Amino acid sequence: MPDNHKTTACLGCGAALAPPFLNLGRTPLANSYLRPEHAAANEPVFDLAVTYCGQCHLVQLTSTVPPESLFSEYLYFSSYSESYLAHASEMADSLISRLNLDSSSRVLEIASNDGYLLQFFKRRGIPVLGIEPAHNIAVQARERGIPTMECFFGTDSAAAIVARNSLADLIIGNNVMAHVPAINAFLSAVRTCLKPQGTAVFEFPYLGDLLDNNEFDTIYHEHVFYYSLGAVCALVRRARLKLVDVERQSVHGGSLRIFLQHESAGPPAPAVPAMLEEEKRRGLLGPELYRSFGKAVEDLKSELLRLLWELRASGKSVAAYGAPAKGNTLLNYCGVGRDLVQFTVDRSPHKQGLLLPGSRIPILAPQALLEKRPQYAVILPWNIASEIIEQQQQYLRAGGKFIIPIPHPVIVDG
Ligand SMILES: [Zn+2]
Repeated sequence: MPDNHKTTACLGCGAALAPPFLNLGRTPLANSYLRPEHAAANEPVFDLAVTYCGQCHLVQLTSTVPPESLFSEYLYFSSYSESYLAHASEMADSLISRLNLDSSSRVLEIASNDGYLLQFFKRRGIPVLGIEPAHNIAVQARERGIPTMECFFGTDSAAAIVARNSLADLIIGNNVMAHVPAINAFLSAVRTCLKPQGTAVFEFPYLGDLLDNNEFDTIYHEHVFYYSLGAVCALVRRARLKLVDVERQSVHGGSLRIFLQHESAGPPAPAVPAMLEEEKRRGLLGPELYRSFGKAVEDLKSELLRLLWELRASGKSVAAYGAPAKGNTLLNYCGVGRDLVQFTVDRSPHKQGLLLPGSRIPILAPQALLEKRPQYAVILPWNIASEIIEQQQQYLRAGGKFIIPIPHPVIVDG
């Protein structure tokens, strides 16, 4: 059985790591959806636990899985969520006007997925280049006319970008900074690819929101890091870059959008020191807050299980809506299987017909919700719960009820 690589030293600063504040057990990879013919096979499982570095404030997994085994055949196609597409369109517009981008500019996106974001720059006549390691997804991006390098971003791809004279005015990485174990080398490669006056913009789920809203299910093996702005500052300085601005975003349960430039840039916008001060006040830059979060997650598990057991005991049928990676952390950590949730539904045809890793819950098409009429459906992508409830009015009118599990399980019946 494969094993993950235990880290004893902080992946940011190299200091010795403290024991985890939250241990989610040994679980399969959150994106390793199973074909039904493999339902009886043993799945590889890996340690999933999180710790806080007292030296540089970086919250990280205590062990990592090589990226090659995580991202070579990825099932997440960005274009399938309408609200995320709207976010991408807004992001492109806002960056084009903020940075005055035009047809002489170059935009580089790291982990560009199926071109969901770069398409909005391309439509405005701005040259783009995507970097995407998953072959099946890179193919889709090229089909929609987005030039895409099929590789992981790092020292080698940075050298290739320099060699083809493609330094960028704007480098974007949405939901990528959390995924790269060799984060120091990654940020150095970003600096290498950035024009002297260029800006790098990264978005990632914000640790402050994760803690506030019990979003523990966003912890899975693909996400090595959970960032506070304080931790970002230390990393950016080490890479000889400068954090010049920060914005809060509502996607993925609450994210940060950070703006980096070369270290020679001027002083940061007021939002940067203001947020650092707030983090210090709230306790994000010390170990105590993390210990109490670990306890809160155990309480949430008991709450959700109690609700599902009660529903089963009273003869109610329960399914789920959605098959996002984070749903697998939720179900597997809580020990929820087909005895408590009979099936789930997902709009992505790439996931329909497969089984969720660990729990082995089957994924059906959304119409199963109306055909099989489960009395309750747990919304696994709770961050887009309002979009789902809007789309599923027919299910609600037929008497169905939704359960939103995070931050605390609540029942929605219309
Ligand atoms: Zn550290």
